[in-house]
Amino acid sequence: MPFTLKKYFQDFFHLLFPNICLQCGSEELHDLNILCNTCIQELPYTDFFSIKDNVVEKMFWGRISLSASGAALFFTKKSIVQILFFELKYKNNAKAGWLLGKIMGDELLKSNRFGHINVLVPVPIQSARLRKRGYNQALLLCEGIASVCGWPILNKAIKKLKNTSTQTHKDRLQRGSQAMMHFELCHPQTLHGMHLLVIDDVVTTGATMEALGHCLLTAQPASIGFAAAAYTLH
Ligand SMILES: [Zn+2]
Repeated sequence: MPFTLKKYFQDFFHLLFPNICLQCGSEELHDLNILCNTCIQELPYTDFFSIKDNVVEKMFWGRISLSASGAALFFTKKSIVQILFFELKYKNNAKAGWLLGKIMGDELLKSNRFGHINVLVPVPIQSARLRKRGYNQALLLCEGIASVCGWPILNKAIKKLKNTSTQTHKDRLQRGSQAMMHFELCHPQTLHGMHLLVIDDVVTTGATMEALGHCLLTAQPASIGFAAAAYTLH
C-alpha cells in the first residue's frame, strides 16, 4: 500500500479507535502511549547519548562548548518517526510529544554522560507562534523526559525574540537567506551555576542551539548540554 494511503487509513482508524498503536494497530498500549512496546523497541535509535564525539557533538565543535549532546532517534522520511513528528507539530497530539520525551529520558538514563544535569531548558518559541499553536513542543518533550529522569523544567528562563533578516544584500549573499535568531534571558539568576540540558525536537544544522547557547552562557551556568528527539541530515 502506498505510504500516503497507508497513513490515511492509519489516521482514520486512529480517529475511530484512539487507543490502538499508531504503527501496527495493536491494542496493547501502556499509559499515554500511542505506540505499542514492540513498535517503540523497533524505532531507529541512534545511541548518540552514550557515544562521546558523536555526530551531533562534532557539529558544535568550534561553535559552542557543550558538556554532552546527542539525539535519540534518526529522523527518516516515510517512517514512524516522521509520523510522530507530524502528530506533534501539526495535529496538536500532546501524546506524541510525551512519548518522544519518555524515549529521550530512557536513552539519557541509559547513558552515564548526563548524570550531572540538574535542570531542563526547552528551546523557546516566539510568543506569537505559541499563541497560534497553543503549546511549545519542546516543553512537551521536557515533560516526557522529566517523567523518567525527574529533572525540573525551567520554562520561563529565556525567550525567543522575532527573527531578523540579514541587513544588506551583501550579507544575504554571504549567509544565504537564513534569518538571524535572537534570544533574551528573562531570569538569568535561575540558570547561574546550574548544569543545563537544552531540549529541542529535531537537530539539523545546530544553528538554533548555537544561538541559544551563546545567550545562555551569559547567565554563567556550570555547563550546557543538548538533547534532541531526532537527528536529520540536511
Ligand atoms: Zn505497534
